[in-house]
Amino acid sequence: MTKVLISGASIAGNALAAGLARRGCSVTVVERAPAIRPGGYAVDIRGVALEVAERTGVAAQARELRTDTEGTSFVDANGRRVATLPLGFGVLDPADIEIMKGDLTRLLHAGVPAGVEWMFGNTVESLEQHGGGVRVTLQSGGAREFDYVVGADGIHSRIRELAFPKPPQPYVHHLGSNSAVFTAPNELGIERWQLVRSMPGRVISIKTDRGSETVKVTLLYGGSMPPRDRAARMREIEQKFAGSGWVVPRLLEHMRQAPDLYVAPNAQVRMPGWTAGRVALIGDAGYAPSSLTGQGSGMALVGAYLLGLIIADSGDLREYDRQLREFVDVNQRAAMGPARGFAPKNELAARMQNLSIRMMPYMPGRNLVISAMMREARRAAGALTLPVAIL
Ligand SMILES: Cc1cc2nc3c(=O)[nH]c(=O)nc-3n(C[C@H](O)[C@H](O)[C@H](O)COP(=O)(O)OP(=O)(O)OC[C@H]3O[C@@H](n4cnc5c(N)ncnc54)[C@H](O)[C@@H]3O)c2cc1C
Repeated sequence: MTKVLISGASIAGNALAAGLARRGCSVTVVERAPAIRPGGYAVDIRGVALEVAERTGVAAQARELRTDTEGTSFVDANGRRVATLPLGFGVLDPADIEIMKGDLTRLLHAGVPAGVEWMFGNTVESLEQHGGGVRVTLQSGGAREFDYVVGADGIHSRIRELAFPKPPQPYVHHLGSNSAVFTAPNELGIERWQLVRSMPGRVISIKTDRGSETVKVTLLYGGSMPPRDRAARMREIEQKFAGSGWVVPRLLEHMRQAPDLYVAPNAQVRMPGWTAGRVALIGDAGYAPSSLTGQGSGMALVGAYLLGLIIADSGDLREYDRQLREFVDVNQRAAMGPARGFAPKNELAARMQNLSIRMMPYMPGRNLVISAMMREARRAAGALTLPVAIL
């Protein structure tokens, strides 16, 4: 029986664990957190990832848990709605599934067959490849033997660090902006809606999930890697959003109290290949496209699906590199437009942006800059033909 160790139990790790276990592999999952992480922000399943979700039986349940946002309004400094887009005119197509990351992870985890070994609160300490397998030592102590080891452990992957050569330029490329996400009370009383305030160098999004008690707030701002220290991070964000008007001072108060504040760099992981002998990387660990594409979760699902097929079938990991290369490149390229233009450069550009958004539903060709970015993202999401295997 093929023995596989997966490091990381989020979207990629759970999806791969399910696929391998269903194909008769012996699977062990090591996760640093004490349990499956709840909450998070909205992520998307679209394009090829939607097909993977259909094939693996996840799509129907994911649809039941989808966020129920019906549209987005752009507001000015006084909260006046200056442009509104109904669902279908943004990057999200009505056929796509938008779901909270925690809900998707929980759903994937629930679908993993019994018999998989879970090691929470643990991590891989070292690994050594030899002719027939990989010898792994764990933080909790003890050495174990596996046929394959897979890093599904996110953008700062430990498995990448242990098994892949150190390149002259780091694998992680910061794209010049960061995102802070947290939950706040729904003091604006919005229902099934998203409000966006777009300012020079900064964007604020407030979005309902299912229900209207709380909202998810995302603050997107230009800058270098966020400081590690929580207090320093909050200070930086407060400085960036000072003088933004509207409800921003109140949001910043909520941010200070938020137990789920999550600050992440908008960064890509760029690698020439995602396999090294019997070790492979999936999801953000190997090819994070950055949060600006809305594609990271989908790519994690697609990569987990393909690698699961390959390990259970031929075991030739180089096939994984070959099959995924173009899909990853196209999606990472699609992130570069939003990385450069995530926020308007000045007040005039902000006003122009709102004007173009207001006109978008009435433009037959929708041939404006912002619309071109959206079209590119959608095209990238579909840029792979899956092999015929059906689980
Ligand atoms: C602010 C923000 C907004 C985003 N918005 C979207 C969006 O709208 N749409 C979309 O599709 N994607 C979005 N993304 C990207 C998406 O969240 C990721 O692409 C996706 O979660 C990748 O899944 P993953 O399983 O590869 O990695 P992750 O979700 O990062 O999970 C990695 C797992 O590995 C664990 N781990 C880490 N280190 C170790 C270790 N040493 N040992 C053991 N376990 C370890 C972690 O605890 C975690 O459980 C966004 C990301 C951010 C930060």
